[in-house]
Amino acid sequence: MPGCGEKLAKLTSGSQYDVCMPGECMQMLTSSACITYNQNASGCNRMLKVLLHGSCSYDCAYCPVRVDRSRLSFAPRELAETFFGLYRKNLVGGLFLSSGIPYDTDDVMSELIETARILRNEGYAGYLHLKILPGAQRPDINEAAQLADRISLNVETTGESRLRALSGIKDYAGDIIKRLGWIAEAAPGHHTTQLVIGAAGETDREIFNCVTALYEQMLPSRIYYSAFKALPKTRLASRESTPAWRSRRWYQMDYLIREYGFNRTELLPLLEDCGTLQNDDPKALLARGREPVDPNVASFADLVHVPGIGTVTARAIIQAREHRTIRTPRDLGVPGSCLKRALPHLAFSGAARQATLAGFH
Ligand code: SF4
Repeated sequence: MPGCGEKLAKLTSGSQYDVCMPGECMQMLTSSACITYNQNASGCNRMLKVLLHGSCSYDCAYCPVRVDRSRLSFAPRELAETFFGLYRKNLVGGLFLSSGIPYDTDDVMSELIETARILRNEGYAGYLHLKILPGAQRPDINEAAQLADRISLNVETTGESRLRALSGIKDYAGDIIKRLGWIAEAAPGHHTTQLVIGAAGETDREIFNCVTALYEQMLPSRIYYSAFKALPKTRLASRESTPAWRSRRWYQMDYLIREYGFNRTELLPLLEDCGTLQNDDPKALLARGREPVDPNVASFADLVHVPGIGTVTARAIIQAREHRTIRTPRDLGVPGSCLKRALPHLAFSGAARQATLAGFH
């Protein structure tokens, strides 16, 4: 019988393709690495990401879990105690719990919930993210939402026909979209979802339509994007992996929608006629050809549309102009690194645009 250590090694590596934390997508902006249990790690790397079951009877074409024949599993009590052992030694700081589905979905969902229930009943008050399985029952979703800080169900792709290319078992409307609606009601503002970019050949236009509809109708706190990876022994092993830049561009697009309030009409020009997103910074692309804005009068929304200006910088500018007229970049009181990108898109009232980057240094 494999010991807990062996199971932990195997079942944490099996969970690495699920993205769960903001820190991870920030990491994905700079590397393609995923985070798993790491004894020497700190910060968000201290999240234990683990599967309850390391095998699955479903047939998702890209998934390495379904080809795992080791059939390693944790029982709920065993996983809870393993987690407590690591947590009490301060080796991990939170838990992301998912699972393959080797048998009945309801039974596996019950086991996930049972694990969470043990942890909470025995005093664990830290971060807990529970994965909802496709086709989960509504009472289970409600209970998971009560126990966990965050719950999530992966939407995977953009629609029924695309899902057909990946799985003959999952039903997009019933197993996923209907459940996302239940999740939205059970955990408003505390649920996420994830798209696998490129696994089913989706165009960026399809992704755009899917993402904007999800944000409008399901109100997830955020959407994660993982670039499809052609993994050995999966049905899609011979396919080309999606380039990392494409998921990075989707994180940038997502930021424009979620944090900066860009609407559909503004963003649509970023899609080429063939439905493809350009490999360039979407905010910079949208700013090209736009009239410069005056930081003395620009609204918050106008300011965050300027490349280099985010929500923090926009608030700092609005605060600064309450005390003085902004005539030069220096009057903005924000770091020069932000202004290098922003300056071509700003017009300073009360002064000719004599301000140049050279003058700012
Ligand atoms: S349901 Fe699909 S994606 Fe999830 S573990 Fe099973 S085969 Fe993999």
